Amino acid sequence: MTVRVGVIGVGMIGKDHIRRLTTVLAGSQVVAVTDVDAQEARRVAAGLPGATAHRTGQDLIADPAVDAVVVCSWGPTHEEYVLAAIAAGKAVFCEKPLATSEAACRRIVQAEVAFGRRLVQVGYMRRYDAPYRALKAVVDSGEIGTPLMMHCTHRNASVPGHYTKDMAITDTAVHEIDMVRWMFGEEITAATVLTPRRSRLGGELQDPLMLLLEMDSGALVDVEISVNIRYGYDIRGEVVGEEGTAALGEFSPITVRRNGLVSGKVPTDWRERFLRAYDVEFQEWIDSVRSGSEFGPSAWDGYAAATVSDAALASLNGAGRVPVTLCEKPALYASSR
Ligand code: NAP
Repeated sequence: MTVRVGVIGVGMIGKDHIRRLTTVLAGSQVVAVTDVDAQEARRVAAGLPGATAHRTGQDLIADPAVDAVVVCSWGPTHEEYVLAAIAAGKAVFCEKPLATSEAACRRIVQAEVAFGRRLVQVGYMRRYDAPYRALKAVVDSGEIGTPLMMHCTHRNASVPGHYTKDMAITDTAVHEIDMVRWMFGEEITAATVLTPRRSRLGGELQDPLMLLLEMDSGALVDVEISVNIRYGYDIRGEVVGEEGTAALGEFSPITVRRNGLVSGKVPTDWRERFLRAYDVEFQEWIDSVRSGSEFGPSAWDGYAAATVSDAALASLNGAGRVPVTLCEKPALYASSR
């Protein structure tokens, strides 16, 4: 069976996922697209054999030719489209964030629980990245003993002009927030955001930031967020266990030795660093839609990440250490990763 996919939002990542679904992966066909920019949606559809450009996301979701929906529009529109897909009983892959508030994510969780079956997957692609998967395999094997701490680093060369103070949490740190929940297999119970001396390269932004995340077991995670560091896109992670440590390796595909120096390449941006992770993420999603097997990051994961994100935002805005309180986890998500 070929999964007939409809894509809502054909901006940067929407186009990239259409390319992936159309030319890289097996088992899917993009049959419909929509965007607030109707002309752009028609232009994209024209390049996809047999695809329809719909006027609205709601029309696309209602289209009987669409088996499954991919939401790549602006964050504040996600809730509406995910709820509509659940109401239509269609699988929906929603780029992060699931929704822009904890309350909106809770409404999605409630709708999916009422539907009685998982339909939603959230786009947390680090869980599909081979180095992160290898790191988690070491932690899960017990090889380094009980994990006690994790040191994370998230560095961007630069960010666009519309990037705001809050986006350092909601767009950037949220990847680490989801990743450490998955890595440790437990929830985050409190968040504290510290603001070091400001980089002059960040203009008015509070850059860098340091997050301290407290895990349910008492393990601690520190996260450096630097979004104007110029030298490249650098993602690091090291888990400290009772009997050893395990860290993500250097990412450069080559090493050059010359003039007494060793050098490698730092990725330019997240597309380059996580290219393969997005491919694996979407192939596994298509396979789940086709076979009816369990999806990846769930609406619960989207809700938990949003709740921690809200706590970190409150801390960034002066609230100090902010405890995270989640609602009771519905049985539907008992086995979600
Ligand atoms: P973008 O380039 O601005 O694309 C968003 C697209 O959706 C734009 O074409 C936008 O049109 C359109 N849109 C806005 N409201 C819509 C609506 N109501 N119905 C249909 N289309 C609508 O942004 P992007 O960078 O692709 O990001 C899209 C989403 O992906 C965001 O949620 C972002 O957080 C997420 N993302 C995830 C990752 C990741 O690593 N997983 C990376 C990048 C982005 P206008 O431009 O006219 O508003």
